[in-house]
Amino acid sequence: MPNPHNVAVVAEQFHGSLQQITSELIGAARFLSEKLGTGVSCFLLGHEITQLAERLVHQGADEVIVIDAPQLKEYATLTYRRAVIGILEHLGTPPQIVLMGSTTIGRDLAPRIAAYLETGLTADCTEFDIGDYEHKGKADPSKTGNFKNILYAIRPSFGESLKARILGPWKNPQMATARIGVVQALPLDTSRKGKIYNISVNFKQEDLRIKVLKTVRDVSVSVNLTEAKVIVSGGYGLGEPEGFEVVRDLASVFKNSVVGASRRAVDSSWIGYAHQVGQTGKTVRPDIYIALGISGAIQHRVGMANSKLIIAVNKDADAPILKFAHYGIVGDLYQVAPLLKKALIKMGKEKVQ
Ligand code: FAD
Repeated sequence: MPNPHNVAVVAEQFHGSLQQITSELIGAARFLSEKLGTGVSCFLLGHEITQLAERLVHQGADEVIVIDAPQLKEYATLTYRRAVIGILEHLGTPPQIVLMGSTTIGRDLAPRIAAYLETGLTADCTEFDIGDYEHKGKADPSKTGNFKNILYAIRPSFGESLKARILGPWKNPQMATARIGVVQALPLDTSRKGKIYNISVNFKQEDLRIKVLKTVRDVSVSVNLTEAKVIVSGGYGLGEPEGFEVVRDLASVFKNSVVGASRRAVDSSWIGYAHQVGQTGKTVRPDIYIALGISGAIQHRVGMANSKLIIAVNKDADAPILKFAHYGIVGDLYQVAPLLKKALIKMGKEKVQ
């Protein structure tokens, strides 16, 4: 019988490939479970995906609860909701914590589950912790309580200027979604052993109202910003959409680089949304992040501040990005970018990957 007291992670797979967010969520769940003195359970849903269960164990799960059913071949809100609820019912006691990804699927599924269970959900978290809380319950005395070892779901708030610690200790599970790329995955350990449980769920007629025939990924917008080692981003300072040619040209110096963008460049339709870095785009942590003509507004900064090396080119010496970049170059990007390219080639940086 699976352990209902483990910290639970809803794993995400697409057509049989585990998504990066899953290993990150397991990393976060391990951190929390060690503080709670319990383990980590993963819920794995899909069709012909049972073979992925072992990989989840290698990534840090102690138990994997699998529902492998043809109805789960393609993601659909109602069938996946039923499957997660099916697992929770199978456990009997709801886990204290359930984590999901702040991905397209997670953002769709997590609120459905939370609403069904009438429990709280904190979306888009960047950190998690465990702690205590005393609620004085002035407004509602029935909520008064001294809560021990509850989930601290931490996320930026007020335009990313404050970190809010959001607590919902009154009902389990305490649910949260995590942004991609903000929590660390654990190194893969192929010697880890765990338990794998296959269970089934009875789909109801109402769960099958929508039938997804096929899911097709738009490869034209598939930009792997979150796993890129080098990102060269362009902002509104490019002045025109053609400016991205300069960005692409600089990016071409590196072997596995990806082009990023600020929201203002995306909103101006100079480049697709898939390239956007920041609060409402992707959170990235590459080895090198080069920003061309980007001011460094807080909403952009939160998406890239964890980059190991930040190089910014801006013609305004007072631009905020120059305050937190490791290297800041004050100048016109159209003059600086070609020089930077030359210098990088000279330094042999084309070997970076
Ligand atoms: P600007 O702020 O206009 O800056 C352009 C910069 O280019 C300036 O610093 C200028 O000095 C410099 N420049 C101009 N010409 C040149 C030149 N020739 N050479 C060198 N430098 C030059 N923004 C994001 O990026 N990502 C997000 O996810 C995001 N989410 C948001 C969510 C919310 C709720 C809100 C309110 C805002 C969000 N924003 C986001 C927008 C953000 O506040 C900024 O407006 C945006 O990041 C600015 O983009 P930018 O730096 O390209 O443009």
